Amino acid sequence: MPDPTTRFAPSPTGWLHLGHAYAALFAADRARQGRFLVRLEDIDGTRVRPEYETALFEDLAWLGLRWEQPVLKQSDHFADYRVGLQKLDALGLLYPCFCTRKHIQEEIARAGQAPHGPDGLLYPGTCRQLSATERAERQGRGEAYALRLDIAKAIAIAGNDLAWQDLARGQFIATPEIFGDVVLARKDTPASYHLSVVMDDARQGVTLVTRGEDLLEATHLHRLLMELLKLPVPQWEHHRLIVDENGRRLAKRDDARSLRALREEGWTPERVRDSLGC
Ligand code: GLU
Repeated sequence: MPDPTTRFAPSPTGWLHLGHAYAALFAADRARQGRFLVRLEDIDGTRVRPEYETALFEDLAWLGLRWEQPVLKQSDHFADYRVGLQKLDALGLLYPCFCTRKHIQEEIARAGQAPHGPDGLLYPGTCRQLSATERAERQGRGEAYALRLDIAKAIAIAGNDLAWQDLARGQFIATPEIFGDVVLARKDTPASYHLSVVMDDARQGVTLVTRGEDLLEATHLHRLLMELLKLPVPQWEHHRLIVDENGRRLAKRDDARSLRALREEGWTPERVRDSLGC
């Protein structure tokens, strides 16, 4: 692919670890002839901390990376995500969901079966059935609600033959139904990861989305959202995940393996690259 634009999109909710270093070096490597961006995925206000934000830029610079300025911060773009939601709403694809986690679990227990999707148990569709009057009444009462995508309707509009390309694994036909009626705006945050990432990759002109293979299934949904929102379709390259000595995927709470801790122990950026095979 000529001159790709790639991005590394961390959430400032913890210290960066070797898994992030791999993802960042991978994205920067693919953009050697193109543009490399960093994006702050900071819409989860409850977990974001300013010290993590400062630290992640320090860590990336320590690794020897350079990226374009300005860095896009998702929390500055809630108004844009709302425009995306309005477009989906105008297509009749969104509905308010008043369910709490507990309601959903009770409903699933009643149904006696619980299909799983990539983000957890599939939503049983309770609020999809509400009448317009009931929706209006509950919204009028100030009851909190999330916005869910009516996935069956969405696929009926977009078609079930949407293709996407992973540079390492080849072509896929999108199967977004694995997500069920996914949440696109949360009760506490007027956007979701899936909506914001798709809109921002388009806004920033990202042509090659690189990220861990744990997000490969998310791409099926992202491809659908791109079709509905009429956004350009990039290519993808999902890469391996970095695991610890027990074969477990590195997690942010695993402070011992943060890049800061390694740096304090005397690791150099070269040693990080060597240990990751970069
Ligand atoms: N913010 C996501 C993460 O930290 C990355 C999402 C993406 O690259 O699409 O896992």
